[in-house]
Amino acid sequence: MNIKEATTRIEDLSKELNLYNHQYYIENVSEVSDFEYDQRLKELQDLEEKFPELAYPNSPTKRVGGDITKKFNTVKHEYPMLSLSNSYSEEEIIEWENRVKKLVHGQVNYVCELKYDGVAIGIRYENGALVQAITRGDGTQGEDVSANVKTIRTIPLHLKGNYPDLFEIRGEIFFPLESFSSLNKTREENGEELFANPRNSASGTLKMQDSKVVAERGLDCFLYGVYGTDLPAEGHYNSVLNAGEWGFKIPTPQKKYLKKTDSIEGIMEFIHYWDEKRADLPFEIDGVVIKVDDYSQQEELGNTAKSPRWAIAYKFKTEQASADLEAVTYQVGRTGAVTPVANLSPVALGGTIVRRASLYNEDQINKLDLHENDVVYVEKGGEIIPKIVAVDLTQRAESAKKVEFISVCPECDSKLQRLEGEAHHYCPNDLGCPPQITGRIIHFISRKAMDIEGIGAETVEQLFSEGLIHNSAGLYTLTFDQIAGLERMGDKSANNLLKGLEESKKIPFERVLFALGIRHVGETVAKKIAKALKNIDAIKAATFDELIAIDEVGEKIAISIQQHFLQEENNQIVAGLKTAGLQFEIVEKELDSAVLQGKSIVVSGVFQTLSRKELKEAIEANGGKNVGSISSKTTFIVAGDNMGPAKLEKAEKLGVEILSEADFIKLIKGE
Ligand code: NAD
Repeated sequence: MNIKEATTRIEDLSKELNLYNHQYYIENVSEVSDFEYDQRLKELQDLEEKFPELAYPNSPTKRVGGDITKKFNTVKHEYPMLSLSNSYSEEEIIEWENRVKKLVHGQVNYVCELKYDGVAIGIRYENGALVQAITRGDGTQGEDVSANVKTIRTIPLHLKGNYPDLFEIRGEIFFPLESFSSLNKTREENGEELFANPRNSASGTLKMQDSKVVAERGLDCFLYGVYGTDLPAEGHYNSVLNAGEWGFKIPTPQKKYLKKTDSIEGIMEFIHYWDEKRADLPFEIDGVVIKVDDYSQQEELGNTAKSPRWAIAYKFKTEQASADLEAVTYQVGRTGAVTPVANLSPVALGGTIVRRASLYNEDQINKLDLHENDVVYVEKGGEIIPKIVAVDLTQRAESAKKVEFISVCPECDSKLQRLEGEAHHYCPNDLGCPPQITGRIIHFISRKAMDIEGIGAETVEQLFSEGLIHNSAGLYTLTFDQIAGLERMGDKSANNLLKGLEESKKIPFERVLFALGIRHVGETVAKKIAKALKNIDAIKAATFDELIAIDEVGEKIAISIQQHFLQEENNQIVAGLKTAGLQFEIVEKELDSAVLQGKSIVVSGVFQTLSRKELKEAIEANGGKNVGSISSKTTFIVAGDNMGPAKLEKAEKLGVEILSEADFIKLIKGE
């Protein structure tokens, strides 16, 4: 390559990488796989080495990727928060290990860890209390996301044991796969678009403005590095173990998440073990990290502008397989959203046989430039179903036709709509399109909604296709003979279903509201609305302003509620359900008294007269609020026998009053 070609290539690569960085760190989406990104970065690095005079001072090879969104306060890092140099090849790990041994004095120990696929966080503790949590940002300064980080249960707010007065701990915040799939399940139930992968969603979640939503999402964190001037350990390995004693969730040697070794064989063994076993982990990793253990040796090695020389990441290639695209079919959900699905020739991937992959929406089909009978590459990450990442163009027939998104609903032939700003096409025929009707009834009977025993999705489909029901209210007019007459339904099952329907009449109003399946009204929002407006008539009559005044209700939800009740059929369903005897009003428990109104109370220890549960119920029945831990906001503690010494000490330190069980009973009796 001559200098002119190199100039153009460096410019193109830099532009491309800057764009990917912006998408990845700010918009939380990726247009290319990490492997492709890393290959481009390596190409740029090699070119800059060959033609150092052409390298930009701000080249993507010299900068820590992340950026600042300006949604939070910006804070300067005390210790730069760098990236890691990485490699997909074992030879390069061997070369790195050789280099390290040459550069430092004495015997070298290495610590092997997992490379969690999430977002980096640096958390400062002063005198055992969490004071600030900062994102990596551009490595020099990050954003203060303390309020959100404090909602993550595995991050201690107060430490125990023998911690240093002042230090920073670093780790990775990520989505455990279980939380991720349950989040997507809820989004599906609420008719919202699904999140593409755990890393991008963890990053997006951490930067949300409302920490209550963050708290509900179930993020987790592994801590892997301690920084400070006064640390009790002389190396990384013991520091991590120490952090465990102070109350942090750390990777442990017992689970093979952490290993100390003095040889390249030991490192390779760790790499091979996790390359094979990573699919069994309850979270995603994209590789392993190898670090020099000893702090003084780390200092000897130092950092480049972008990453420490004393650490390297070995990245696993995401497992890919190629398959033939047999057909693209379309699924219609309960909200009418149409999702294209690729039907593939069966192929083994990540321990399962893959036959289908999501194509998400029309934009994705266009981005892949998918043609009929294409040979495609499939990847399986944390997604619920695998995705197509690329097409093998060398195998495309010249006559192959481009895959065109359908224009009419595959179920009812209605013309599809795509609203501005939305990625999905919708079938507008919500009252006549079969999967939308059955989808709504299936949502109605589901566990988190009416939780009706004795009926599942299949029975709903059966009842609908037999013409016995056409909405959820129809369930309550079914007779024994109608149900027992269905295929595979005996007398016993019919009775079960009738009993289940009868039981569901006790389900409280907030769940009935959720069960109605109003678009964007999920479980939590339904609870807030029920609590604020008390009954269905008030909700129907509420103005837009009244609706958006409710906690967690925004414009989109308010409009959706108003539109729902503008449809006559929806009002008829509510009328039918009301006639059946369902709860359409919130039942407020009457308080025994209001003596504890506005008081925050902690219950601790073992009691003589009341059980802990009864005590807590008594607190609520008298207007008080149960809280888990003691703080300056605690009004008093009801203490039984064996109250923990740490709690006692804290209560005394904060001057919080302590009541005995007998005192408490007197108080609520008004004595
Ligand atoms: P990185 O993710 O490769 O490595 C550094 C990060 O690893 C640290 O900041 C930390 O958050 C994390 N980490 C996890 N476990 C760790 C452990 N045990 N010890 C230390 N750190 C640990 O680097 P990066 O700078 O965050 O991101 C760059 C990478 O992101 C690229 O190499 C690429 O793979 C990917 N990326 C992809 C795109 C895309 O469009 N696909 C765009 C930008 C970046």
